Amino acid sequence: MPFNGLGLIGAIERALRENGYVEPTPVQQRVIPLVLEGRDVMARAQTGSGKSAGFVLPLLQLWSQRKGEGKAKIKALVLTPTRELTLQVAQAFETFGVFLPKLPKVVSIIGGERIGDQLYAVQQGCDIVVATSGRLIDVLSKKQMNLSHLEFLVLDEADKMLDLGFAEELDLILPQLPEKRQNLLFSATYPPKMQTIASRITQEAVEVAF
Ligand code: AMP
Repeated sequence: MPFNGLGLIGAIERALRENGYVEPTPVQQRVIPLVLEGRDVMARAQTGSGKSAGFVLPLLQLWSQRKGEGKAKIKALVLTPTRELTLQVAQAFETFGVFLPKLPKVVSIIGGERIGDQLYAVQQGCDIVVATSGRLIDVLSKKQMNLSHLEFLVLDEADKMLDLGFAEELDLILPQLPEKRQNLLFSATYPPKMQTIASRITQEAVEVAF
């Protein structure tokens, strides 16, 4: 099955072609249409399954179809357990968004780099934030990041975040987000603690496993 049955717009299909993506992986086949329909998704998927493009592609599309005027507001927040994954996901938004009529501004919020530079990038106006949760909390505590316009929340490799004290961090992050938003959860495993997080975050999520 080629990518063109999934409901993606031409600008994204073109970026897929130019990056040598010919066929969607099973995760992408199942998740992309659900995200485009506006559903919450709870996916059990491993690294290497193509899960990143599974949320990056439809979120770029939904984002580009929203009318936004003036300074960019943060519409999507992706939380990941590591710097590397954060940078990889941010890069994917840029790679696959390159032919959209308006390019999304993507900011990575990670430890080990100057927080001042990251705050500045956020304040210049950004559409999509990809972050590790520890550094995100540092940034939020400075009260210089407004998440009240958020429409999409993604937790990527969520079980790995649990090992890093994520359940407690969520108590600080969730109150800053609007209640009405689309939530996508990707995790390789769903131990009981993960189920608790899933029920706190998602609403009537479609559960898919690969
Ligand atoms: P992920 O599981 O999202 O980390 O993706 C694993 C690797 O597979 C990454 O290097 C992606 O660039 C690549 N990839 C994901 N989906 C596809 C696809 N449909 N066709 C070709 N490569 C892909």
